Amino acid sequence: MAILTIESTCDETAAAVIADDGQVMGSALATQTELHEQFRGVVPEVAARAHVERILPVIEMALAEAGIPPEQLRAIAVAQTPGLAGSLLIGLTAAKTLAIAWQKPLIAINHLYAHIYACQLGRETSIYPCVGLIVSGGHTSLYDCRGPLELRYLGGTIDDAAGEAFDKVAAMLGLDFPGGPAVSRAALEGDPKAFSFPRSLLNKPNFDFSFSGLKTAVRYELVGPGEKDFSQLDLSAQQVADICASFQQAVIDVLVAKSRRAVTDSRAERLCVGGGVAANRVLRAALQQAADEDGFELIVAPPELCTDNAVMGAIALEKLAIEDFAPLSIDIQPGLQRGR
Ligand code: ATP
Ligand code: MG
Ligand code: FE
Repeated sequence: MAILTIESTCDETAAAVIADDGQVMGSALATQTELHEQFRGVVPEVAARAHVERILPVIEMALAEAGIPPEQLRAIAVAQTPGLAGSLLIGLTAAKTLAIAWQKPLIAINHLYAHIYACQLGRETSIYPCVGLIVSGGHTSLYDCRGPLELRYLGGTIDDAAGEAFDKVAAMLGLDFPGGPAVSRAALEGDPKAFSFPRSLLNKPNFDFSFSGLKTAVRYELVGPGEKDFSQLDLSAQQVADICASFQQAVIDVLVAKSRRAVTDSRAERLCVGGGVAANRVLRAALQQAADEDGFELIVAPPELCTDNAVMGAIALEKLAIEDFAPLSIDIQPGLQRGR
């Protein structure tokens, strides 16, 4: 027996078939990067429309790979919060429709809890309790995770998410979208100390982050205040590399400092990291160094499970075990529900 998981919170349409024991039997993912590239960001209406076109083929592919008929499914699980309203709606509507047609219970997944759960996949022992760090295009937050379904919000960004800052800096420099991989590639050749960019809220005794001042500092380094045209920049490859490396280091310094403080404060034994920015190698290395120094365990989700996917929807098995099903009347919740 297995469950079907559906993910459509942002710009990835994904489905997976996961066996009772956690084994991934089938998985399919359609990315929309090429649709949003020209806008250098995810356009909600474009994303929703693309989900409509892709969701059924993606579900069919996952089921075909698993090679099981719908009768053998025990439940239909779907990421229902948080995310873009139009995107969430497509996934939830598909899940409800299949739940009715195949007479299966519905399970609602919190997408952020699933990002942390990505660290659990393939592990014999429980990663919980732990401190969870989610760093993606839409989120940068720390949680005290007592169990897979029991997360307490410690703090998060008060403006831009870390991934969003990478994307915006890449746009200013004319680098590819999404910006994270492009900026980190350019940073390889750069000097992280070339520019001293701000580390906002670094010494504030809370777990909040702010990246919009950093983004503005990079901008003023490139053009004057009020100037919006970045097309006339005449930067050498070395200058671009130095800006990328210095910017990346500023983001990493704050992420590492706040995460290790959260681990200490919560007396946690491990830090579990998920979300697209967790794919960043320099961040991983810096977190590992902090873990070695402070004596906690670091678990970062495998790179392919850092960005949005349906495999991390395996967290639905935890809800299946306690029969925590959602009523068919359940609606999407685009906003972040911190207490749940
Ligand atoms: P959500 O925030 O809802 O989880 P999302 O699609 O914005 O959705 P992800 O798919 O988890 O988030 O991650 C995408 C983000 O990760 C982008 O902002 C991208 O620039 C960033 N990213 C990807 N690879 C790297 C990297 N190597 N270094 C830094 N950032 C990266
Ligand atoms: Mg994405
Ligand atoms: Fe996500």
